[in-house]
Amino acid sequence: MSRMIVCACCKRVGPYGGYGWIRSCYDRWRAADRPDGGPPPQRRKPEPLSPGEPWRPVGPHGERMIARYAEIAGLGWSRERISFELGVGDRTIFRYAAYLRRLEQEQREEQAQESRQELGVAA
Ligand SMILES: [Zn+2]
Repeated sequence: MSRMIVCACCKRVGPYGGYGWIRSCYDRWRAADRPDGGPPPQRRKPEPLSPGEPWRPVGPHGERMIARYAEIAGLGWSRERISFELGVGDRTIFRYAAYLRRLEQEQREEQAQESRQELGVAA
């Protein structure tokens, strides 16, 4: 096992990779064709949900799941079939549905505001 170090580029602790960097930074640098400036910035981690915040998809996986849900939600399938298709439970399906309703609501409000602005009416 490689020794643990504090990375010279990001100050995170991890297994040694090379040039004073931890393995993940070293690998990122190599994957980016060894730029002179050192490892390129990390991809930002998705912000976790804070307590009390309404549910939203977190990260690329969450976004793919909600996109898939939105695709099949309009097909008239039973909730059981949607659960089965997505491999998630009822609670998750309810969250997806509530999230999409919220998005639609926000979009309607934005559109309403835009058309008010076009008409020159103060919002
Ligand atoms: Zn680093």
